[in-house]
Amino acid sequence: MINDKTAINSLKSYVNNAQRVVIVPHNNPDGDALGAALALCNVLKNMQKEAVVVSPNAFPDFLMWMHGADQVVIFERNRKKAKHLVEDADLVLLVDFNALSRMKNMQNIFNGVDTPRIMIDHHPYPEAETAQIQISVPEASSTCELLYNVLDAAGFSRYITKEAAECIYSGIMTDTGALNYNSGRPETYLTVAELLRMGIDKDRIHHMIFHNNSFDRMRLLGHALGEKMVLIPELKAAYIYLSSEDLQKFNFKPGDTEGFVNQALWIEGVDVSALFTEKDDLVKISFRSRGDFPVNKFSEKCFNGGGHLNAAGGESRLPLNETLERFQTKLKAFRSDL
Ligand code: 5GP
Ligand code: MN
Repeated sequence: MINDKTAINSLKSYVNNAQRVVIVPHNNPDGDALGAALALCNVLKNMQKEAVVVSPNAFPDFLMWMHGADQVVIFERNRKKAKHLVEDADLVLLVDFNALSRMKNMQNIFNGVDTPRIMIDHHPYPEAETAQIQISVPEASSTCELLYNVLDAAGFSRYITKEAAECIYSGIMTDTGALNYNSGRPETYLTVAELLRMGIDKDRIHHMIFHNNSFDRMRLLGHALGEKMVLIPELKAAYIYLSSEDLQKFNFKPGDTEGFVNQALWIEGVDVSALFTEKDDLVKISFRSRGDFPVNKFSEKCFNGGGHLNAAGGESRLPLNETLERFQTKLKAFRSDL
């Protein structure tokens, strides 16, 4: 999976020589970003380093069970501490993103800080200024799968505990929808096999991540599918739109809409889906596609975002109804240019 021996050797020597390491997942961390960050933190602590995860903002409750999650420093809640940790670190590891902008406001605390940064990520098109050392493997199902292989290649696999292995497994499962998509490479299963050998409790993880929903979330899903989903057959598209009132009505908590966008893609004849969620100052958008429709390009061009070919995100500063109109217009134009 990783044929960049130079990058692995650099990572090895940076890690061996570092004492204080800060690990950063992207804003709105998902299972893959948080899983990779916590696994890495655990491994580094086993190597007798002072390691800490600093996240740009909070993560969903359904990831709270992960080992070390209670010790994550949240930049949005504790800016001073986050800044101090970054300034004091002798190494920074960035996981599951490849552009500094994905840290949102937290990127500012890196201004004027020349601590070396290493990026471990599986998104296409890394930006050069993200990190001096870039371990970028877009074929990987998830950053967690990549991380396992990086640790192995660097000779650090003996430091992977069962707890770290559980975090790694969670990232692979969340990014592939429990091996539903993005999981056709045999190597992914070899990695999963190794994690199982380390004694992870697979059934418990699936329960904690996928089968442990609040009653409110299940009802929000019902509302989204029943009342707030729109099919546009001529554009082979379907979308779900949730206003702040919808969210309030069902006591929305971060992570509650996770996976909704996939369901809109499960409609016959649809190859692009979107989820629009109204936040305080913007509309957050998730895109999914099947086949070769590039939602990352579409989002980059029209909604200030990016991601993978079949899974991307973006945002809009227009009101929700105007955002929906713009989506239709832009999708029509984008389709005709394909
Ligand atoms: P999700 O829809 O699950 O939030 O994100 C899907 C994919 O798109 C993930 O790989 C995520 O990292 C990426 N993504 C989500 N939001 C953004 C964004 O605002 N900008 C970019 N560049 N990528 C995003
Ligand atoms: Mn990922």
